[in-house]
Amino acid sequence: MTEILELVHDVDEAGFEQVVFGHDAESGLRAIVAVHSTVLGPALGGTRFWPYPTEAEAVTDVCRLARGMTYKHAAAGLSQGGGKAVIWGDPRSERTDGLITAYARFVDRLGGRYLTAEDVGTTQADMDLIRETTPHVTGVSPSLGGSGDPSPATAWGVLWAIRAAAATRWGSDDLRGRHVVVSGVGKVGSALVDHLVANGATVAVSDVNERAIAAVVDAHGTDRVTVVGVDDAHRTECDVFAPCALGAVLSERTVPELRCEIVAGSANNQLATDDDDDRIADRGILYVPDYVANAGGVINIAEEVAVDGSDGYDRDRAWKRIEGIGPTVTEILALAETESVTPAEAADRYAEARIDAARTE
Ligand code: NAD
Repeated sequence: MTEILELVHDVDEAGFEQVVFGHDAESGLRAIVAVHSTVLGPALGGTRFWPYPTEAEAVTDVCRLARGMTYKHAAAGLSQGGGKAVIWGDPRSERTDGLITAYARFVDRLGGRYLTAEDVGTTQADMDLIRETTPHVTGVSPSLGGSGDPSPATAWGVLWAIRAAAATRWGSDDLRGRHVVVSGVGKVGSALVDHLVANGATVAVSDVNERAIAAVVDAHGTDRVTVVGVDDAHRTECDVFAPCALGAVLSERTVPELRCEIVAGSANNQLATDDDDDRIADRGILYVPDYVANAGGVINIAEEVAVDGSDGYDRDRAWKRIEGIGPTVTEILALAETESVTPAEAADRYAEARIDAARTE
């Protein structure tokens, strides 16, 4: 039986609704669920299975990530709040079905305030197992009514973010003849290249994985897709730079070297520090905040939760909704202009306005 200890570290000041610790002696489960906000709806966010050096670091990370989900969901117009969970441990040596099931009981006892999903260290198979114990899980297999891999949805959303930024910058969202550098052609980046090529753009790709590059070049041919070195991607002359690999790519070192007019990609936490969006703006480059551009995956997953009374996941409905990232980007970039703030600050204000409005409804 999972024992739940509700210990609240000093998180009230940061506005967290609840931080809950779960332990299960038999399986060795040590988990933390952070519910940052349920103002817009149940707190949705993945479960990260990670061997943090200390419990304090696990708490800090889960809280940081949960807060980020509140903003991401709010800006995406979803009826979900922000939450996140960690299972503290090494998934390679500590994951057992018993531990995942104990975790599912823990989630279940939160009564739907927190909806879990896959994240680093957990898999769709884990979500399927969790579904056997609790309904409060998303991202299960399509055979169980789930939405499957979110990456194609994320790439679809990035395309619409790029088109909206193009319209703001150049007065047209037509990408024909535009040149885009996609750094990282994994699950999201490779699907984004497909969309860009279909929209008439030429693309340069970079990746540390030669096979990932070969797959993209083979699919489109060297007329449409060229290759640049990993260290050169951000300083390649182009219209749009799309970071789709790791975080912290936009830094004090790289921003002065950018030779693009727009930055919009799927990577999480693209800004190395809070100052980097100022650096980008000072260079006259338009930055689409990462959590707005890459919200296609969560919009897709949220479609599993039939909040509008309709039944279950429907891919066409999800894809239509993801296209809404375009108008959201347009609005955020306009807000940045009228309020003389960076796009990152404008995105936070946009999200906060939605939460405040829901709070006073
Ligand atoms: P992935 O692991 O499938 O792809 C990442 C690719 O980046 C890999 O091919 C990898 O070899 C490459 N890479 C690693 N280091 C690199 C470097 N220095 N330069 C160039 N390429 C490098 O991951 P993904 O699912 O495609 O996600 C990509 C990014 O988008 C991540 O930051 C992820 O957090 C973010 N994201 C993904 C989703 C999603 O739905 N998958 C949703 C939101 C955000």
